Amino acid sequence: MAAAIRTTCAYCGVGCGIAATPSGNAREVTIRGDEAHPANGGRLCSKGTHLGETVGLEGRLLHPMIGDRRASWDKALDLVAKRFAETIAQHGPDSVAFYVSGQLLTEDYYVANKLMKGFIGSANIDTNSRLCMSSAVAAQTRAFGEDVVPASYEDLEEADLIVLVGSNTAWCHPIVYQRIQAARAARGTKLVVIDPRRTETCEGADLHLALRPGSDVALMNGLLAWCAQEGLVDKAYLADCVDVPEGFWDMLEQGHDLWSTANACDLDPARLREFYELFAANPRTVTVFSQGINQSIRGTDQGNAILNLHLATGRIGQPGAAPFSITGQPNAMGGREVGGLASTLAAHMDFAPENVARVGRFWAAPRVAAKPGLKAVDLFRAMNEGRIKAVWIMATNPAVSLPDAGTVRAALEKCPFVVVSDVIAQTDTGAYADVRLPAAAWGEKDGTVTNSVRTISRQRPFLPLPGEARPDWWIVSEVAARMGWASAFAYDTPADIWREHARLTAYQNEGARVLNLAAQATLTNRAYEAMEPFVWGGQPFADGRFSTPNGRARLVPVRQMDLQGPLPDWPLTLNTGRYRDQWHTMTRTGLAPKLARHREEPLVEIHADDAVRFGLKAGDLAKVSTPQGASMFRVALSDGQRPGEIFTPIHWTDQISTGGRTGLLPRPLVDPISGQPGYKSTPAMLARVDTE
Ligand code: SF4
Repeated sequence: MAAAIRTTCAYCGVGCGIAATPSGNAREVTIRGDEAHPANGGRLCSKGTHLGETVGLEGRLLHPMIGDRRASWDKALDLVAKRFAETIAQHGPDSVAFYVSGQLLTEDYYVANKLMKGFIGSANIDTNSRLCMSSAVAAQTRAFGEDVVPASYEDLEEADLIVLVGSNTAWCHPIVYQRIQAARAARGTKLVVIDPRRTETCEGADLHLALRPGSDVALMNGLLAWCAQEGLVDKAYLADCVDVPEGFWDMLEQGHDLWSTANACDLDPARLREFYELFAANPRTVTVFSQGINQSIRGTDQGNAILNLHLATGRIGQPGAAPFSITGQPNAMGGREVGGLASTLAAHMDFAPENVARVGRFWAAPRVAAKPGLKAVDLFRAMNEGRIKAVWIMATNPAVSLPDAGTVRAALEKCPFVVVSDVIAQTDTGAYADVRLPAAAWGEKDGTVTNSVRTISRQRPFLPLPGEARPDWWIVSEVAARMGWASAFAYDTPADIWREHARLTAYQNEGARVLNLAAQATLTNRAYEAMEPFVWGGQPFADGRFSTPNGRARLVPVRQMDLQGPLPDWPLTLNTGRYRDQWHTMTRTGLAPKLARHREEPLVEIHADDAVRFGLKAGDLAKVSTPQGASMFRVALSDGQRPGEIFTPIHWTDQISTGGRTGLLPRPLVDPISGQPGYKSTPAMLARVDTE
């Protein structure tokens, strides 16, 4: 048997290390946790454990395809380059777009971002990470001056209180949850879960606050107002390190007493007070937040309400005290580092003229984008309106995963030229492609990823590239060369790209920013191959200095928005999320039969009161409708749901089933600052489906 190859998990942003041992026979591999990896220390969750069952060639796209016909790489790449160049010449750089993915490696992301922003001259490159963490990015940038998560997994082990907000950690970040449980067993760490649903994460928690969906700002502001009243605000820290806008404390004095807050959040005041007192008694607090905060039409404000609380009480920059945004995807963080969002330029830089000039010099680029591009939902809306005329979608499935997927499909149908590079031959999005390009999959890819806590790890190949599959960075570079920019994209290996990315982070750094990979810029190929997981940024903000021009963090005044009550035709509120053993649109987890045992079909979870109200019982089929669309689900009764609120999973697609297609249901409404869609509260209706 061959030696184990140390790589990183294909799934979530926990970023667990994996030791993969190929057997030497047709793509068989043994998977175990990498004991030396700092994220997991050898542990794996169910998804990671079954990765070995997903590396076969069933359903793989193995050759370039133009329409339904197999084509040579030369022909396919020539066509992509020609159609993009013609579209740009005729309609300008903003008539084309890339829509990429947190599944891409940092090196893939870097090259795609460089081509679009530096050479095509548009910032119309956005990523499906927009859907999972862009509100946290915006909140951190507002508060700290830079998108930095100031936390580590070790903080969870040093905290006395862990608050999980809008996060079903037990299912969605299982190894983080295991670390939390181990810390609780070892040192009695208190655990509070704030979530409208009573999920598996709540089992054994010291306190669960099932707040009204969308009332998180009221809750955090209420706690901060109480801290101010009780003398728990760290005045010395504020004086030394944080700018407090005029009127900030006055704002908190109005309507944030315990009773008003409990009323706004629909919580028992006694339980709310219990939370406040736990917070007061445990200065070593880590507040972990995830999609319940981010996937909201006020996601950025909700994030800042949490950051305000930590800054005002000085619970940041010290062991066991931090606000902690955890990311969904394996390389959401790496994409942020290279600037693979339409709202950033490169290497944590925005579009300030000096940054545009700096990046232009570094890349020797002819026309660097000077303004932000279209964010995910807006990008497909622009396509629907005929303003995007050529799109390249890499490693993602927006025809299922974007809100109001029916409109996204209409946009793809209208778009004159659609390229999809993916590992899967048949996806809901691929059905609209003029050209499909076979990409390297996990186990074949070679590069780096960054997890939720800024740990950069290698993804190493342990299987040969099948058929004509190629790495994403190679495909993008070949198109760039055919568009006339061969010398700027003349990479031989991912290590070449890594060194260039590292040089750029240092080139832009003027001593004030946390992301600086200067030490990596001269790495040899051999050292890149042998790279051990490492963290950038150390313990950010430990010295009380932030990345703003004056070095001080900022409190951001945020107010609770008015929450819409039930509508006459749409009396329910739909919340969406993940199952423990599935990942996104199941293109990989669907290949591991054991993972289907946990939940064999998509369920709509409803409270017993709603079952009576809508004439339903467990096991019935029900149609869930929203103004955007409808799909059918099996009914499951759950006393973890608040009455009036229902939950469906995000995973099922046209390729898998005729029902359970949650993607058709959410509203295409987004947070005005981050552009992240609000998947967590869509007005909905439920009706029994008669099967006789
Ligand atoms: Fe993979 Fe996430 Fe599970 Fe770790 S917790 S094994 S990264 S899916």
